[in-house]
Amino acid sequence: MSRIRISGLFLALILLCSGCVQTKPAQRQVFAMDTFMSFTAYGKDAEQALTQAEEYIVQLEKNISVTRQDSDIAMLSRVGGAPVQVCQETYDLLTTALSLCDVTDGALDITAYPAVRAWGFTTGEHRVPDHAELTALTEKIDYTAIQMEDASRTVTLPEGMAVDLGAVAKGWAGDRLAYMLRQAGIDSASLSLGGNIQTVGAKPDGSPWRVGIQDPNSSQGASLAVVEVVDMAVVTSGGYERFFEQDEEIYWHIINPETASPARSGVVSTTIVGPWGVDCDALSTALFVMGAEKAADFWRDGLLNFDYVLILEDGSIHITQGLENSFTLANGYTDRKVTVIAP
Ligand code: AMP
Ligand code: MG
Repeated sequence: MSRIRISGLFLALILLCSGCVQTKPAQRQVFAMDTFMSFTAYGKDAEQALTQAEEYIVQLEKNISVTRQDSDIAMLSRVGGAPVQVCQETYDLLTTALSLCDVTDGALDITAYPAVRAWGFTTGEHRVPDHAELTALTEKIDYTAIQMEDASRTVTLPEGMAVDLGAVAKGWAGDRLAYMLRQAGIDSASLSLGGNIQTVGAKPDGSPWRVGIQDPNSSQGASLAVVEVVDMAVVTSGGYERFFEQDEEIYWHIINPETASPARSGVVSTTIVGPWGVDCDALSTALFVMGAEKAADFWRDGLLNFDYVLILEDGSIHITQGLENSFTLANGYTDRKVTVIAP
């Protein structure tokens, strides 16, 4: 055998082996932030990178959980209006969340927690508050009352109010995890954090990740459509995720800050696709509150870079133009009316 043929064989073996490493993913399941998370990463340092990812999630939850007595966020509502010094990450996340409350004109409001609690979504003891209680609750929802002091990293929240980062934290975590994985040399990963999917790069074979969008009416969690993405976040908020039924009325966990009641905008599910998980997460909640018309205006304003899929009460679907080539209805749903929102 000639020297050239031997080295050719050697090269083929190396390629085959590196192919083996590439296609066998590292995987991790974590229960954190009140949800099941599942991480898949490809590459030689993927195991180690996912260990770091898991450690990060555990620490983030300690800092920002609304139900852990010792977290920065729980402390804010416990101290009755006194300034609280928080860790750098909580401070940065709060700053980002507040700017997203601003940009959505308060459709996202991280002080909606007293209403979430009053409706029983935190304990499972669901109830419908009466009119007087709802009026009193609306007065406790106002993100503009939070004071941030950069120099001392302190946050002040008026007495009786509470902060909850549940609408943005998983998106924030997805961004951080994607950054950590890229830093570790991982260029292909898919991170599922409850309704949030964060992708890094493309699949190992170079094709895009295919992310299913759940049919809000399917008890089996069937996918109604698929979006194909590379290096993007795909975040869904749906009324079906947490709800209760009373007197033939359904009440869900996404609150309209103006009424302190479940948002009824005609939208039953929002999926946001974009480069930043935290923006997508904030907007999945905010566009649910806004409804289809305001959502289209907001997208056209172009303040943030994203596309969306809205599922309306009548089963029809709105997608923004950026998704036209990456959105496909699933088998069994091809008769759905799809409206493409143009700039
Ligand atoms: P998501 O699943 O991202 O839509 O977040 C929903 C969670 O955010 C709820 O379970 C509440 O804890 C909280 N939440 C509900 N409505 C709002 C709102 N309008 N703004 C901010 N947070 C909210
Ligand atoms: Mg959200």
